Amino acid sequence: MIKYKLACKNCKNIFDSWFASSLEFERLKKLKHIDCHNCNSLNIEKSLMAPNILNSKSQKLKISENKKYLKVKNKIKKYQKFIKNNFKYVGDNFAYEARSIHYENKKNKLKGIYGKATIKEVNDLRDEGINTESFPWIDEKNN
Ligand SMILES: [Zn+2]
Repeated sequence: MIKYKLACKNCKNIFDSWFASSLEFERLKKLKHIDCHNCNSLNIEKSLMAPNILNSKSQKLKISENKKYLKVKNKIKKYQKFIKNNFKYVGDNFAYEARSIHYENKKNKLKGIYGKATIKEVNDLRDEGINTESFPWIDEKNN
């Protein structure tokens, strides 16, 4: 997982977003799946990272950043475990399954679902009043 600081060229909003890899970022950007949380503009750029100056101060900063990242990662992994035990995995069909639960009112379905959805799909579901949470997912193969 990679966290990028993204900058909206339209309203100058800066926000953080997680991606599986830098390639994934490029792919989503090409597909116009990355938009500004503030004004929905698609004019999004990765904001420039601080230059990597190797002095002791920045090294220390890096180490504490890594520790923070590990803490976050452990939290995400705990969350993932909970979700895997309590929710049904629907893979790429997430948007479809979420809609069918919502519209067909499948009350007998005790388990929630989890799966993959694009930012646009999640936004669409929210617009339709379907409660959807997104969070970073760590692919176990990469860790
Ligand atoms: Zn914006």
